[in-house]
Amino acid sequence: MESDGGKTIFEKIIDREIPAEILMEDEQCIVIRDINPGAPVHALIIPKQKIARLSEARANDISILGHLLLTAQQFAKRQELRDGFRVVINNGPHAGETVPHLHAHLLAGKPMIWPPC
Ligand code: AMP
Repeated sequence: MESDGGKTIFEKIIDREIPAEILMEDEQCIVIRDINPGAPVHALIIPKQKIARLSEARANDISILGHLLLTAQQFAKRQELRDGFRVVINNGPHAGETVPHLHAHLLAGKPMIWPPC
């Protein structure tokens, strides 16, 4: 998993230390275009407060976790993703997590298969 011992790549994007295509932002989270898209629409919804991964969230993170999903919903509405969208959180190495900073992938723009693995 990516880590240089300091900030994650997503913290550097939040702090404007490295560029990214920012699609939405509010006080609690940032939405960026994935640099290596897996679908025509591939956004990452990233809480500004760092939680390494879903398995490390605590009960008092409930509002951040709810905000994450409502931001996904809002993004899908703004993008008019009427044919559907998928929200994915990779947790740990077997799930393909590469950045240790909680984020949800929102994928859309083509029919997708299930299960994904
Ligand atoms: P995960 O594998 O679930 O941890 O997802 C990390 C995602 O971050 C991958 O889909 C990467 O393509 C994406 N990513 C990594 N670096 C950047 C970056 N600088 N800008 C945008 N997306 C990135």
